[in-house]
Amino acid sequence: MSEKIIKTICHYANERGHSHFSLEAKDDNLFCTCGYGENANYLQLDPETELNIKATFRRLVGANENDLFHNKRFKISDAEEIIKGRASLIPSSSGEKLLISLSAEHPRILRLSALGLNKTQRNNFKQAINKKSGIIIITAAEENGASSTYYSLLQLAASKRSAYSIEDFPLHKIEGVNTINSSHYESFNQIIEKLMILDSEIIAVDAALKNSDIKALWRAADSGRLVILTLPLASAAASLKLLRQAGINSKDIAEQIILISAQKLFTRPCSRCAQVFDPGKEIKQNILHRWPISKAYWPQKLYRQRGCTYCQKKKTPPKTAVFEIMHFLSDGRLQKGYEPLIKGALDKAGTGLINIEEIATWAESDTKL
Ligand SMILES: [Zn+2]
Repeated sequence: MSEKIIKTICHYANERGHSHFSLEAKDDNLFCTCGYGENANYLQLDPETELNIKATFRRLVGANENDLFHNKRFKISDAEEIIKGRASLIPSSSGEKLLISLSAEHPRILRLSALGLNKTQRNNFKQAINKKSGIIIITAAEENGASSTYYSLLQLAASKRSAYSIEDFPLHKIEGVNTINSSHYESFNQIIEKLMILDSEIIAVDAALKNSDIKALWRAADSGRLVILTLPLASAAASLKLLRQAGINSKDIAEQIILISAQKLFTRPCSRCAQVFDPGKEIKQNILHRWPISKAYWPQKLYRQRGCTYCQKKKTPPKTAVFEIMHFLSDGRLQKGYEPLIKGALDKAGTGLINIEEIATWAESDTKL
């Protein structure tokens, strides 16, 4: 019941172009405020729903009864959609105030070329899904499109093969793929044990994994199955580090991993009002400082937007995805030609698909391993 109210409020905010809103009781009324200042919209709710909504958010973020919480991730999902974001319950003059930030990521099933992969990367993906067994890892920080890549790849891999997809928050039902909602089982291991008995050729996982779950997936690959999984990490190197920390040794990593694909999403600037510009020394220095290798990839031309009626009207600008793929040879060696994310990002900045200033911001916020 309460999830339904929360969905209604989220839709109300979204339709008015807001991704932030708050809920607070004032003078025996409950108000939902979307946005800030002059652009704010208000929705008056039945005050009795307040306790209900708070209790639902506590459940969604895993907080105890009466506890406050700060900046916790939440997800609501059903057959039609996923709503996710971050929630805080903080003290206020009228008792407590609930603050919500909605996430803008909506996983989609796309062709490989529409995902933003270049030709070499598309070929890497195609070769990988044609393997009978091994492990494909799709990794990205939260909100950077890993689920879209997961669904798109799984759809291709699953044709004519018996495939199972274990998901924490099932959204898309892909034809021919058996979707398993992980929350219906006591443990991840229980699901894997079940699939090992069944005639499963592909086991795909878009779910939060513990170390023991990762080990279970290695057993599945050792048994001759193709495993596709997502990890919430920003780079391929960070994923390798996590696997070692999970207790997978280098030999097992080398034997099973076919490829690790890491990706990052950038805001796609408007192409109608782009003009060539010189970003100046500081931006270049910041990027070179973080990734000295970018000197070799620095674009000939960079672009900036003048700002036009077209781009000013767009509330949710499209995204540009950048990928890096660590592709492994059958003897476990890293295949030559590995190109880091920053190479892809600079290439796309050189064609106006990414703003160089966003790469500079990334350089400042991205920490080395
Ligand atoms: Zn424009």
